[in-house]
Amino acid sequence: MERTYVKEALNKKDGEKVLLRGWVHDTRDLKKVRFLVLKDMTGRIQITGVESKTDKDTFGLLDNMKRESAVEISGTVKDSKQAPGGKEILPDKLTVIAEAGDPLPVDVSDFSKTELPIRLDNRFLDLHSKKAQAIFKIQSTISMNFRKYFVDNGFIEFQPPSVIGSSSEGGTELYKLKYFEKDAYLAQSPQLYKQMIACAMEKVVTITPVWRAEKHNTTRHLNESRQMDIEVAFADQMSIMKELEGVVKFMVTEINKNHKEDLETLGLKLKVPEAHYLSYDEICEMFDIKNGEDLSPNDEKRICEKFKDDIVFVHSWPTEQRGFYIMRKGEDAEAKITEGFDALYKGVEISSGGQRIHIPELLETMLKKKGLDPKDFKSYINSFRYGAPPHAGWSIGLERFTQTLLELDNIREAVLWPRDRDRLTP
Ligand code: ATP
Ligand code: MG
Repeated sequence: MERTYVKEALNKKDGEKVLLRGWVHDTRDLKKVRFLVLKDMTGRIQITGVESKTDKDTFGLLDNMKRESAVEISGTVKDSKQAPGGKEILPDKLTVIAEAGDPLPVDVSDFSKTELPIRLDNRFLDLHSKKAQAIFKIQSTISMNFRKYFVDNGFIEFQPPSVIGSSSEGGTELYKLKYFEKDAYLAQSPQLYKQMIACAMEKVVTITPVWRAEKHNTTRHLNESRQMDIEVAFADQMSIMKELEGVVKFMVTEINKNHKEDLETLGLKLKVPEAHYLSYDEICEMFDIKNGEDLSPNDEKRICEKFKDDIVFVHSWPTEQRGFYIMRKGEDAEAKITEGFDALYKGVEISSGGQRIHIPELLETMLKKKGLDPKDFKSYINSFRYGAPPHAGWSIGLERFTQTLLELDNIREAVLWPRDRDRLTP
């Protein structure tokens, strides 16, 4: 007999035979009647053993089931007003495929009962829980629809290298590793590569891992994360902010369409956000922030509170707050304002981006102004000497976005196996 998934079994007619596989979520013993809740990747269904009717061995087994054990159950579908979903299974035969140890190191039915580090130590078991599954099912929809939105709009997907010969941006700390006789580094961003490919193929998209050796220990930073990036030729900051607005709206719409139950599990209702566009100067004035400084986490919170559940684009940042490679207003080395922006959503920065400098001489000047040596960036600068047009792009962190959207307290909830200052296993 072929396997039936729980979701299909819940749609079968009274009297139909099924073979189910899954895990024991819960059991209840009322002496003459024994219940088992079976779960698989599609849902949950009640198995009801009745002493006077059910096979003796099977009824006996129902009394002695360890939670989270993998089992196979064959039986008959029965309509039932009391059972969740309106159907139950009267079992013919129950087979234990893999028994779970007891006690379980993680309380699978209640997140709040096990501390996060212990859940992460036992992620294989934590993933039996409805809540963890909901988060990673939704994350899969985020990454898939991120790609889909751009590929459907004519972008091509590319894969940058993860091992690089030198720092691509300056700034964040890099992980050094041995590469034959040379030193190499883990990529902190696909920045240089996405610029080179966009300057030839125009519209590009990638989802790629990045590593930052910063010793921070916060609820919104990881040392290994995934970035969702685009880069577009012949574009400025305004046109790519519109792309970000578009893809976020699309992803949230798709989540609302496909994850009603998962959102319920997480206790969430998602609004498809509107976008507000304000310059850095306007933001400083509105929120009484000292012009020239970075936005503090508290500033980000205050700004988002005013534009509740919407995206706030803070654009045209001052020169001292942006990387050397962000375009200066009017392609002017002396300009105080750049073509760079941040996107804030539900209290935090979810993305940074802007127009890049595609003019080699301007790049050299900006590097020197930042105290960097143009010689160290020779191949980067040279890539703009042969017909590189103006171009712009941004980056949004997959885990940061998942955390923000799903209102998770800690970014570690939004990554299967976090890499942070203290955690390298499992
Ligand atoms: P932040 O100011 O939040 O530390 P950043 O400005 O250093 O971030 P960017 O270089 O702009 O980060 O990276 C682009 C995006 O990648 C960020 O907007 C964020 O969504 C995500 N991101 C950045 N650093 C991390 C990190 N350490 N862990 C997880 N996600 C990150
Ligand atoms: Mg940033």
